[in-house]
Amino acid sequence: MTHPKAILIKLLKSIGVYSWQGVIGYIVGAMILAYGGIFYSQILNYATLFLNIKTPLWATIALIVLCCLYTYIKVAQILSKLNQAGQPSKSPPCKTILFTIDDLKWNTKIYDDGHFEVDRISICLQHDLTLIRANIDYYCPEYIKKNCNIMIDHIQYDLLYVTAKSYIDKEIRNKKC
Ligand SMILES: [Zn+2]
Repeated sequence: MTHPKAILIKLLKSIGVYSWQGVIGYIVGAMILAYGGIFYSQILNYATLFLNIKTPLWATIALIVLCCLYTYIKVAQILSKLNQAGQPSKSPPCKTILFTIDDLKWNTKIYDDGHFEVDRISICLQHDLTLIRANIDYYCPEYIKKNCNIMIDHIQYDLLYVTAKSYIDKEIRNKKC
């Protein structure tokens, strides 16, 4: 049968702890991180006390295992919070609005923080159909049937796109969508 001490050492090494002093250091670090500097001196006093007491092996094992688990969870929580804080929140669009500018409708996503994204492909106002891009032209599907005159080359379309964005920006700022 494997000695409990050997199991303990294996367990501690698996989470990166190599000594009793290391465990205390680990706990002190986590507690200071968790509670800030207010209790810094008290935490250090308790840590010194712990390092000086002589306890039976089973009590030491139980205490170390519990402390390690607690510390591991606490540190994981703190790291998770730090990671979340560093990342921009990918909040879903606050709302989606179709802006009509001349013969086209532009699908626009407006986010909570005020920024917006306009879909590059617009919609024919007359036929309510998403334009098709083929080669260098954008056209309404009804154009093929000669029911629509929306057929725009890519240079002109790029100009329409930036112009639409400008008008949409103005609308959003004035109406505070
Ligand atoms: Zn059309």
